[in-house]
Amino acid sequence: KGTKIAFVGLGIMGSPMAGHLVAAGHDVTGFDLSSAALDRLEAQGGTAAHSVRDAFRGAEVVITMLPNHPQVEDVVFTNELDPGVLLVDMSTIRPSTSIAIAQRHPRSLDAPVSGGETGAKQASLSIMVGGEEADFAAAKPVLEVVGKTIVHVGPHGAGQVVKAANQLMVGGIYALVAEAIVLLEASGVDPKAGLDVLAGGLAANRILDLKRESMIAREFTPGFRIDLHHKDMGIALDAARQVDVALPVTGQIAQLIAAGRAQGYGSLDHSALLKVIENFSGR
Ligand code: NAD
Repeated sequence: KGTKIAFVGLGIMGSPMAGHLVAAGHDVTGFDLSSAALDRLEAQGGTAAHSVRDAFRGAEVVITMLPNHPQVEDVVFTNELDPGVLLVDMSTIRPSTSIAIAQRHPRSLDAPVSGGETGAKQASLSIMVGGEEADFAAAKPVLEVVGKTIVHVGPHGAGQVVKAANQLMVGGIYALVAEAIVLLEASGVDPKAGLDVLAGGLAANRILDLKRESMIAREFTPGFRIDLHHKDMGIALDAARQVDVALPVTGQIAQLIAAGRAQGYGSLDHSALLKVIENFSGR
């Protein structure tokens, strides 16, 4: 028999993840503020709850996949969680908030993910987990339904620190792929031919593999919104401040992403950093 799971936050990521859990035989009750998201869950064979409290009733595992810390705090602090329930927060939030949640609900894991919408749809996410070993072991069979690379990286908050490191690298790689495209096009070199050869050399990376065609075509449907990446750069800089280190390149990337938001691209995919880089040169 499957595990009784409450799943809160059925958006771009949460919706396909919940669908995989249902398909794997788990008893999934979900809640989201959006009724379209609840309809999707029912179509996948899950149960739509009327409230967070309703979703939590009888749950053995609670999974949250929400935008940021205020939503996670709202869901886990204003609704009663049975002390025995295993809380798995898969949202990307500040490490300090994950630690605060664990102080109030010790049976919790921070388990943010990487792999994007594609990874969620294909159940191939990388999941970086912070918390107690025994809770990790208990959550692992459930996490294996949605992820491929699942690693216990340390105590509460450690999963979020690893995710922050991921986000600063992803932001930087997007910015540099964008600069490469601008240079190639301005020089009259076919960007597709240029990036095709680079994808086989030392500069090869997954963003080049997965996103170079859509970037060259200026297709910026999210995916992962600039607004969310802006949030994540704030998390990375906050985490750096907590441990007194300077991350100068991360600071620059954060400003490029902030410019994207200020220029009105917040709801586009983060590959729209290309527009920010083009705007610098008036192109
Ligand atoms: P999203 O905006 O598509 O989904 C969030 C969902 O939460 C929405 O459906 C929203 O209605 C719901 N929600 C908000 N407040 C709520 C509340 N109080 N109660 C119930 N539901 C509520 O966002 P997403 O892209 O799915 O991202 C979710 C998290 O995963 C974020 O922390 C994000 O940084 C992280 N993440 C996203 C991606 C990606 O590629 N999209 C990749 C890795 C990690």
